Amino acid sequence: MSDEWFAASRRKQLTLRQGKERVAANRHPWIFAGAIGRESGPDDAALADLYDVRGTRIASGLHSPHSQIRMRALTFGDEELTPELLRARIAAAIARRRSILAHDTNAARLIHAEGDDLSGLVVDRYDDLLVVEIANHGLERLRPLIADVLREELKPRGIYFKNDLPARKIERLPLEPEWSGEGECQTTIRENGLQFIVEPASGQKTGFFLDQRENRALARAVASGRRVLNLFSYTGGFGVYAAAGGAREVENVDVSEGAIALAKRNHELNGVEGRFTTGDAFSVVRERAAAKEQYELVVCDPPAFAKSRGEVERAARGYKDVNLYAMKLVAPGRLLMTFSCSGHMDLDLFQKVIFSAALDAGRRASFVARLTAGRDHPVSLFAPEGEYLKGFLIEVR
Ligand code: SAH
Repeated sequence: MSDEWFAASRRKQLTLRQGKERVAANRHPWIFAGAIGRESGPDDAALADLYDVRGTRIASGLHSPHSQIRMRALTFGDEELTPELLRARIAAAIARRRSILAHDTNAARLIHAEGDDLSGLVVDRYDDLLVVEIANHGLERLRPLIADVLREELKPRGIYFKNDLPARKIERLPLEPEWSGEGECQTTIRENGLQFIVEPASGQKTGFFLDQRENRALARAVASGRRVLNLFSYTGGFGVYAAAGGAREVENVDVSEGAIALAKRNHELNGVEGRFTTGDAFSVVRERAAAKEQYELVVCDPPAFAKSRGEVERAARGYKDVNLYAMKLVAPGRLLMTFSCSGHMDLDLFQKVIFSAALDAGRRASFVARLTAGRDHPVSLFAPEGEYLKGFLIEVR
């Protein structure tokens, strides 16, 4: 099994450069190559120990021979990194979700990387399926241990290793997915009493945008009697919730045909009506504004326009453009629910972008609520960049 990787002889020893002692002091789990002076031990080691120049061990974690992030620290100081510790962390993360996985919800993120003290690991539960994303060489070596704990704790019908994170290329890990389980890797989940088809293999992310669960519930709560436009709908999440909340009319817009096809099926599954438009949301909002259409709730949840720091400026223009038109479409005194999931665009910048969209749309606007990912997506105080999703519920006057 995986336990042999924990032996001292199988680990990499990394020694910090003189003057880099502070690297681990703030307990950020990412230890970069530039901070490391000397190293010894096997290159294919799953684990590494980090030492200061005096030879004192200051951290232990997951090793990567190829990435700029040479180590993802799991323990600091003299806490021992053992198989038991790793098993206990996985079990604790699962236990933290018990209050979410109540009778009317059977899908949630079980492990959210740094937010669960498990840098590099994401595990999503979709009813009886688990979808795993591994972003690091060391974790890939420890996969049997991870799968073992997941099976023991949850007894899933199957586990799907999606293996499509861009980081895996840098880590030189295989990009082919792996399914080990019974039957097909697809299911119908229950979320706040509503049903959604999830197909992890063909779907975006791990199959569903679990991070928006609580915001979808908010959309349901404010949708009664309203005409709703759901931009970037994916498989119709916000649309189904709004319709279930008594919306007068719901239209879902997405550029992906596959997503719209599933959005239709999801509306049917829940016995609610909807309209469906396959197309570019940027064009759709312009057309609707030209036709002087008005909606009482517009949801705008685009994909991450900024995939790197260098793309932030261009991304900001994209967010401003779509939000400007979205605001024009909101009937006076009604609501816009708008999001950015670009990790590189912080809350401050996103707020500025929304401000300038309101200015150019010639509308007064106030925040009614500030929105984030649900509580199954915890953010480590030591790695705050894990907070990627931010949104606002805005009353546009
Ligand atoms: N709100 C959704 C998740 C949205 S993810 C939910 O709760 O499930 C972003 C979606 O935007 C994806 O489905 C993607 O296909 C779509 N998309 C990307 N570019 C687009 C564009 N230019 N116009 C319309 N949809 C787009």
